[in-house]
Amino acid sequence: MDFRLSEDLQLWRETVHEFTDNEVAPYDEAMDRANDLPWDIIHKMSDAGMFGIPYPEEYGGSDMGSLAGAITIEELARGSASIALTLDAHWLATDPIHLFGTDEQKKKYLPDLVSGKKIGAFALTEPGAGSDAAGIISTAVRDGDHWILNGTKAWITNGGAAEVYVIAVKTDKTKGARGISTFIVEKGTPGFSIGKKEDKMGCRGSVTTELILDNCRIPESNLLGKEGEGFKIAMVALDFGRTCIGAMGVGTARSAMEKAAAYANQRHAFGAPIARLQAIQFKIADMAMGIEAARFMVYHAAWKRDQGQRYSHEAAMAKVFGSEVAMKACREGIQIFGGNGYSRDYPLERYLRDAKLLEIGEGASEVLRMVVGMNMLKEFA
Ligand SMILES: Cc1cc2nc3c(=O)[nH]c(=O)nc-3n(C[C@H](O)[C@H](O)[C@H](O)COP(=O)(O)OP(=O)(O)OC[C@H]3O[C@@H](n4cnc5c(N)ncnc54)[C@H](O)[C@@H]3O)c2cc1C
Repeated sequence: MDFRLSEDLQLWRETVHEFTDNEVAPYDEAMDRANDLPWDIIHKMSDAGMFGIPYPEEYGGSDMGSLAGAITIEELARGSASIALTLDAHWLATDPIHLFGTDEQKKKYLPDLVSGKKIGAFALTEPGAGSDAAGIISTAVRDGDHWILNGTKAWITNGGAAEVYVIAVKTDKTKGARGISTFIVEKGTPGFSIGKKEDKMGCRGSVTTELILDNCRIPESNLLGKEGEGFKIAMVALDFGRTCIGAMGVGTARSAMEKAAAYANQRHAFGAPIARLQAIQFKIADMAMGIEAARFMVYHAAWKRDQGQRYSHEAAMAKVFGSEVAMKACREGIQIFGGNGYSRDYPLERYLRDAKLLEIGEGASEVLRMVVGMNMLKEFA
């Protein structure tokens, strides 16, 4: 077993690290206040080839694999959870087209998504169904060689910013999860509009909106995968998404630890830096251990995907653990900052607000614990 990253991966990590320090982190606070997507950063990420890291050269990607994708997300999240989330959600749409699309769909959509010229969004959640994804009620009804889509999607990252939407709806209401199909819907299609923009607690530099489907007529050729395969497609997309959320947790926790350690070294109490207090050292130690463990879990999930192995279980574990490591690092980071940690003049409260999303989106911790627990119970039945 070799724990070292390849030279290519090390070099890529350094590239994203430097990009994040120069082009992302300095603007994170402004993004949070503006509550909007910073397009100039998105364009720079596109120029730097970040959107295409896990995808084949055939479509303009760099074919570096999922581990490189997770590293990209981790490094970006160190500077801004919002920016990392934007890329994660973009891949949630790109991935199913890459894995389940016809040649025609791949040729039509992938080059622009892989280059970042166009942003993607993935829409499963509805106002009445999140964890219970099979309970969605939006529909698609066949009309000759077209489909008519109706319904409302809620909490869609990149809503409005995206030009390509992968949307899951019911094509057979009697079949539960097996009655779900996915469609590619382009921005500007008549009957498709962007609804309410969320005024979120955190990750405010990423946009989140409702999507409205009102007799939206799309051609048969935009059915993604087979009819009835939508739930499976969504779960496959979410495996990589959850791995990336775990990576976001690692990046956010690193940022909290770096800031807290630097603060502890310069803040004096009782005549010495608070870094000299064991209570503070223990907090930093717990952060470091959590980060190390979470990172191995994320890398293992990504590595398994790169080996073509099943990795839903590892992705779920990496997501739950990584998000909780991030929350704990932010909570304890604020504690190390004392009163200043509670102020918007310092970044820790923003990190905490950002990190909270990681325990909810793409499978809440309770639901994923259930998945992991059931897998283990089955294994030892
Ligand atoms: C900022 C943000 C961005 C998002 N982006 C997207 C996106 O791009 N695309 C998309 O499709 N969705 C997106 N979502 C939606 C997200 O995936 C859902 O919010 C999440 O799956 C939880 O669903 P819910 O909000 O309906 O909560 P609910 O399902 O109503 O759950 C509420 C609570 O009950 C718990 N619970 C539910 N069922 C169980 C159970 N069986 N056992 C134990 N506990 C349970 C949950 O864990 C949670 O604590 C986003 C959400 C947020 C906040």
